[in-house]
Amino acid sequence: MQFTEKGLPRQINFPEGNIMAGLPRLKNKENFYKLVIHELGHNMGLQHCPVPTCYMRDAKGGDPTGEEKAFCKKCAAYLQKKGWKL
Ligand SMILES: [Zn+2]
Ligand SMILES: [Zn+2]
Repeated sequence: MQFTEKGLPRQINFPEGNIMAGLPRLKNKENFYKLVIHELGHNMGLQHCPVPTCYMRDAKGGDPTGEEKAFCKKCAAYLQKKGWKL
């Protein structure tokens, strides 16, 4: 996956319709990207992260607060090992 300077994916390919089912209503596209990145992190085997600015932090079912800016070093290193280009 390729990322923009802001840490958002340039493009994500999903099986049609798969990811949208059951998603809460999202305020904006950025929150959508964060949620998708978070879920992809789970798919890669990442657990929730205590770092408040990390995409893998636990939103506890509520709205993302917008504090997440990037993967923390630990999560980024894990994903890079899995072949992500971060
Ligand atoms: Zn999660
Ligand atoms: Zn993290």
